[in-house]
Amino acid sequence: MSNAVLILLSTFLILHGARAQEIKIGVLFDGEDDELTEWIFQTAVESYNKEREYFPDNDLVVVIEKIPRGDDFAATNAVCKLLEQGVIAIFGPSGESSQHVQSICDAMEIPHMVTKHDPNQEGLNSVINLHPHYSVMAQILVDIVNLFDWKVFTILYEKNENLPKLSELVKMHDGKIHIISMKQLDQSNEKNYREVFYDVKKSGDTRFIIDCSTEILYDVLIQAQQVGLMSDDHSYLITNLDLHTIDLEPFKYGGSNFTGMRLIDPEDPETIESVEYLNNLNRESSDSDDKITPYTLRTEAALMIDALYVFASGLKELDIVDEMLDEESFSCEEENGWKRGLSMVNYMRTVDVRGITGNIRFDRQSFRTDFQLDIIELTAEGIHKIGLWNVTEGLNISRTGTLKQIPALEGSLSNMSFTVITAISRPYGMLKDSSLTLVGNDRFEGFGIELIDEISKMLGFNYTFVLEPNGVYGSMDKKTGKWNGMIKELLEERADLAITDLTITAERQKAVDFTNPFMNLGISILYKAPTKQPPKLFSFMSPFSSEVWLFLGSAYMGVSILLFVVARMAPKEWQNPYPCIEEPEKLENQFSMPNSLWFTVGSVLQQGSELAPIAMSTRMIAGIWYFFTLIMVSSYTANLAAFLTVESLSSPISDAEELANNDVGIMYGSKKGGSTLGFFNDSSNEVYQKMAQYMTDHPEALTSSNDEGLMRVQMHNYAFLMESTSIEYITERNCDVSQVGGLLDNKGYGIAMRKNMYYNDALTKAVIKLQEQGMLHKMKDKWWKEKCGGGACSGDADTGGGSVALTLANVGGVFVVLVGGCTASIFVNGLEMLFDVWNTARTNKIPFRKELVDELKFVAKCSGDTKPVRHRNVNRSSESGSGESESLKSKESKRSKSSPKSYGK
Ligand code: GLU
Repeated sequence: MSNAVLILLSTFLILHGARAQEIKIGVLFDGEDDELTEWIFQTAVESYNKEREYFPDNDLVVVIEKIPRGDDFAATNAVCKLLEQGVIAIFGPSGESSQHVQSICDAMEIPHMVTKHDPNQEGLNSVINLHPHYSVMAQILVDIVNLFDWKVFTILYEKNENLPKLSELVKMHDGKIHIISMKQLDQSNEKNYREVFYDVKKSGDTRFIIDCSTEILYDVLIQAQQVGLMSDDHSYLITNLDLHTIDLEPFKYGGSNFTGMRLIDPEDPETIESVEYLNNLNRESSDSDDKITPYTLRTEAALMIDALYVFASGLKELDIVDEMLDEESFSCEEENGWKRGLSMVNYMRTVDVRGITGNIRFDRQSFRTDFQLDIIELTAEGIHKIGLWNVTEGLNISRTGTLKQIPALEGSLSNMSFTVITAISRPYGMLKDSSLTLVGNDRFEGFGIELIDEISKMLGFNYTFVLEPNGVYGSMDKKTGKWNGMIKELLEERADLAITDLTITAERQKAVDFTNPFMNLGISILYKAPTKQPPKLFSFMSPFSSEVWLFLGSAYMGVSILLFVVARMAPKEWQNPYPCIEEPEKLENQFSMPNSLWFTVGSVLQQGSELAPIAMSTRMIAGIWYFFTLIMVSSYTANLAAFLTVESLSSPISDAEELANNDVGIMYGSKKGGSTLGFFNDSSNEVYQKMAQYMTDHPEALTSSNDEGLMRVQMHNYAFLMESTSIEYITERNCDVSQVGGLLDNKGYGIAMRKNMYYNDALTKAVIKLQEQGMLHKMKDKWWKEKCGGGACSGDADTGGGSVALTLANVGGVFVVLVGGCTASIFVNGLEMLFDVWNTARTNKIPFRKELVDELKFVAKCSGDTKPVRHRNVNRSSESGSGESESLKSKESKRSKSSPKSYGK
């Protein structure tokens, strides 16, 4: 609650009942809609009388005079009449006649409280003006226009006397960058301003500044709407401080931007409380149902309340009430004014209070200083404060665009009309084939067209498709910062939405907004489909990759050598070569190096060899090698069948890197000005940079459409870098081309619109909903697979992928088993040898160590497959191999015993 109202209420309670003398104030009303202001003012006066803080022993009495607007004679008479009745201050009027009233008040030294701007008050001593000065308002308007970057606009004004408020705007006109037109709202034609609006409409202007009184503001706006100047292309800046008090319901959903200013902050708790207090007081005293809200309290009424507050504060400061009351009346004829009038005005000039219209302070000319204005905007939810202006900080707007929140999805854009721009690109936007001449939206079909239609059904808007004639989607000229194509059309407000295979990119997103993506994709390569290769001479090598062949060869050599070494170490592999000789001079080992190689290759080729390992360790190696060959040969056989039956397909390139490094003369490129080219140009990857450089050096490799790219791929040795969804569409219909390699990036297509448009949210929600309902998927199937010859290549999708050489990844496990088995055999072989050495040493009573060293020395020689028998007395029969016949063993044993002999000496 304002301080004044509160203080006065408490004082009233103490002094109520005392005889009160009257302090008369005069009010002049000259408007048609002054009833509301009148009761608000009367109620405010009543509150002072109740509270008695300011005039403890006196009652304020309001003497009202109503005069016809603009009637100076009547105004003069009314003032004189009021003065004769003894009023010590005059409030109003708000119309033009206030100038005459001012002169009289100045002559009679009667304080004149003014609530409208008056350019003529300078030099007058008795005026206190509560309205913000027009020169300040003019500057605020220029600031707003500059912030919104309006270059071409029309000013529609009602009264010439308000032109000072618009003077700074008019000065912006330079005929080149700023083109400003002015039109007066015709006052002669009974609130009919349509003619003016028709003229404005013809001029094609879409931005308007409207300066008119609150009385006609609604009519002006509604007529602008009737004339068709309120689509989402149109923007309005309203200079009237009461925009928030009129019924804006009809304009909320039309799409036009409304910006305005206000002096009263209806959300300010003090304003809310003061208004509530006045309502209560009015209800108590008059049983009246009249009610105001902070949103219907007009600026003039608020200024009147504040003027009264300033007057009361000045009077209290001056403390002259009793003296003043001695003077019963004044006379215009005798020009006997109020002796203390000027002192009163001077006191009022120095007040520093806070009223409903904010801080109240005055400069030396009695103009208001240090006030604050809210900058407001109309949204679908009503008025929103978007910033403020004050003397110290100037204009401070939280954002420059207009963002309106749409509460609901269904039907939330009903009755709106959008211009949707598209570019011909199959299957997103296409021209219908028809023998009839089609017009309007009927001319188009495609995924994008259907998507807009589905969304429009959900949100209830109308749409008109227009075509970007050159099929340019939009890229920014880095030097000038200017956009082209569909993005330019959006920015210059010739279209509201843009749809086709328009990729969401960071650069575009700086200029326009996108909905959530309705399709995801990545860049890939379109190239001729791989051709079928005749079977190769060495196609038997194909089942294994060269890596596997290499490993196989190494395994073969490794196992052969291992077998040779292990056999040399294994005592049981040393056999009597002549079983008839019982005590041989030397023993023989079947696993010489050539034999070892033959043994292993025999098992690889599944043929076997006459050799059979005897010792445990050699048998282990043989066993694991058999297992290894079993798996390898089966894998080879299985894969060979596939290689021999399927004709392999081949392509000279298999990914982007190969394309970048190709030396077979494949030319490559992408769509001019498209996001694909942008991706390569902006990439930090070395390969892609190289490709970008290639495309810069070969501008002739760029195409102006995807169709041109396809044609080049089909006709020339050319690879086209394009988006995977478009490749998918093409490869469904053109079996001679295919996608090469995977995706180079990930992105999406979205519906574009100007920045901060209120419908973005609703459109995005609609896209998400369609996605959730599976509608987008269904539409994709329809336009990709069914319509326009889709599915033509579905039976032709053989890429030769059924027969791929087995790599190490496929057969690596077998190698591991082989290595494991060999390792185990080495371990067993060591044990075998140690046991044999120990046994020999024990039997022949020679040191174990010496025997071991001798044995190892022999093994390490790696030559000779015969081994002289060193200890002939040793009974070897018990240790001979299990494959030997018992008779042979006993014979050999006997021979061994009979001819002990050392070797190596
Ligand atoms: N979708 C791309 C764009 O929005 C056009 C095609 C391309 O560059 O591959 O610019």
